[in-house]
Amino acid sequence: MTLLRIEGLVVRHGLLTAVREVDLTVASGEVVALVGANGAGKSTLLHAVAGSLPVARGRVLLGGTDVTAVPAHQRVRAGISLVPEGRLLFPGLSVLENLLVGVPARSRRGADEASALPRGGWDVERVLDAFPLLARLRDRPAGLLSGGEQQATAIGRALVADPALLLLDEVSLGLSPAAVDVVYASLEAVLAGGVGVVLVEQDIERALRTATRVVCLLEGRVTRDVAREHADREEITRAYFGTGTEVAS
Ligand code: ATP
Repeated sequence: MTLLRIEGLVVRHGLLTAVREVDLTVASGEVVALVGANGAGKSTLLHAVAGSLPVARGRVLLGGTDVTAVPAHQRVRAGISLVPEGRLLFPGLSVLENLLVGVPARSRRGADEASALPRGGWDVERVLDAFPLLARLRDRPAGLLSGGEQQATAIGRALVADPALLLLDEVSLGLSPAAVDVVYASLEAVLAGGVGVVLVEQDIERALRTATRVVCLLEGRVTRDVAREHADREEITRAYFGTGTEVAS
């Protein structure tokens, strides 16, 4: 089923148009890697889907319901969770406390909410079960964790809301290759649950390994939207840097 449908989305920061007429769909079980150079509009697009940035034009539909005017905290309840760039954990609180306070009970998806949408059935206990790393570190203050451990905590916190759609903004930024492996390995459990994932990833190789679809953004526009099996690394690189023919397919 189609989880997310974005239609003609335009998002501005003041006078600057960061996202231009973007159309995008994400189906259940799909992992869409959103790639593009710095400033291409990837984070802006994710924040507009999560409701933390207003939309100038266009629509965001979740499971066919128009959520364009729905505030961010209600979108969490409707099934959209964002792991923002920079993680935004509470450094003085433990891993467990971050999982508990990150998503207030009123923001968790209720049994009645958007019931047609898939649910992974996540809660704090399941997150600790699925992420043994977090279970081991549950009492450690988040401020003392390594970058990879912090990122895993941030993903766990987003899952506690039991999302249908998980938005991940540069989860590997600033991490060592080994830590990135830890973060991506932790995503496997998420993907098994049938949710949809949109992943902003600078590393094209990793995007091609992880995603089911790759979408390139260039200066706020989609220049390529292709299933992984048809994704050609060089073509994606050209679309990424804007050195090829800009044709969406
Ligand atoms: P990066 O990979 O560097 O994070 P990105 O593809 O996520 O880049 P965005 O962060 O969405 O790109 O930025 C898109 C454009 O919007 C850029 O030109 C950026 O300078 C601008 N921009 C982003 N946030 C703001 C803001 N709060 N105020 C003004 N301009 C902004």
